Amino acid sequence: MKFLRNIPLAIRLWLVFFVVIAIGMSISYILAERATTQQFIVFSSRRNLEQAQLLAPLVAEYYAQHGSWEGIESLLGRERPGRGKGPPWGDPWQRFSLLDANGRVVIGQVPAEISREVLDSVGAPVVVNGVRVAWLVPTTEMQHFSVVEQEFLRSTRGAILLAGVIAAGAALVLGGLFLRNILAPLRQLERASQRLTQGDLSQRVPVTGRDEIGRLAESFNRMVERLERSEKLRRQMIADIAHELRTPLTVIQGDLQAILDGVYEPTPAVIASIHEESLLLARLVADLRDLSLAEAGELRLEKQRADLRDVIRQTVTVIEPRLASKRIVLTVKLPDEPVPVEIDPQRIQQVLLNILSNAERYTPEGGQITLSAFTRRAEVRVSVTDNGPGIAPEELPYVFERFWRGDRSRSRATGGTGLGLAIAKQFVEAHGGQIWAESTPGKGSTFTFSLPVCYAG
Ligand code: ADP
Repeated sequence: MKFLRNIPLAIRLWLVFFVVIAIGMSISYILAERATTQQFIVFSSRRNLEQAQLLAPLVAEYYAQHGSWEGIESLLGRERPGRGKGPPWGDPWQRFSLLDANGRVVIGQVPAEISREVLDSVGAPVVVNGVRVAWLVPTTEMQHFSVVEQEFLRSTRGAILLAGVIAAGAALVLGGLFLRNILAPLRQLERASQRLTQGDLSQRVPVTGRDEIGRLAESFNRMVERLERSEKLRRQMIADIAHELRTPLTVIQGDLQAILDGVYEPTPAVIASIHEESLLLARLVADLRDLSLAEAGELRLEKQRADLRDVIRQTVTVIEPRLASKRIVLTVKLPDEPVPVEIDPQRIQQVLLNILSNAERYTPEGGQITLSAFTRRAEVRVSVTDNGPGIAPEELPYVFERFWRGDRSRSRATGGTGLGLAIAKQFVEAHGGQIWAESTPGKGSTFTFSLPVCYAG
């Protein structure tokens, strides 16, 4: 059956159609033919018996006159069977056998000896002076059908066959149309996917119905849409990365060129500025790596049980000196009870650090930052509120997108890569939590993330 797989689907289905119809036709032909023949045999033997009953008095009269069966063949005006041709309606002696009182065959063939009881039931008795002297028994075998009868059977068979062929022809034509109808959308799908493999992502196929093929077309379109979107994102991301890497590199190159040209003296301050740019570049590369791993779902989390309050306290000690240098007041509100969580502490620390760094970056000197954590049912929420410039409502939905910066120049000047919040989002979601931002422009922003709490065990 393997060779069938190389044959086009339409032809295969059509072949299946053909075989099924041929089998069906043969079976119905055989059954119809059998039924007709059997019915015909019943009909013809009944008719023969009736004829035998009509003929019996004639035969009886002959016997009464002659006292023997000698010359009985000529009674019905025919020669003995087998000698010469009878008329088309048949030689009566082919349809009847004459058996005498002892059950012996006088004319015709009877396969075996027949008892009187059977003779009574299948034959017409020939009665002379009240005595049964013989029986006229109809023969029902095919070869004894008359020419007309055989003609009838043949034409019936022919009609059955013709009906079968017409029905099969109609079924095949209808089947062909039906198949074409079914296969048309599949062909469209095939053509579209071929063009897709050649890189044409604009391919879509019409959805013709809600059946399996319609659903297939729908999912094909969805798949291509996703491919197109991710292809666009990929291109956008490469362009973004190239752009983001180029800026610090250009600054480094420019500074080094200026030193080589003798424009700048390689003073510690100039070298420190170049060093700063190289650090930004390194941070950008590290952030990109984390982000791409997280987005590909390949981030390895080294989860352990921890009290979230400890993780928060540690992060605060890291950021505190920077806050102090800007005279920003940090207020920390933590629950009195331990907050048991199953986390990768380093990743969650980074989330918190990214949010706190932003708060520090966008809060003016002498500003206020509040960090609070509170448990709510099976989750803990950590919020960082600042009293910085806030975020415009139309910008709010984009802050978690990679490379998105509200104010490019200012963000760059303060060392932002545009990846901090995108990374935070990925890390929080990898822990089964959520992150969101609320803001009132001019008053400040609040960034909140949630994590599941593990009370059990
Ligand atoms: P960046 O490195 O530029 O800070 P982020 O992904 O951390 O990148 O933040 C994206 C953008 O969201 C920032 O450029 C800024 O416009 C806005 N943003 C983030 N945090 C704050 C905040 N606390 N106050 C105001 N704007 C913020």
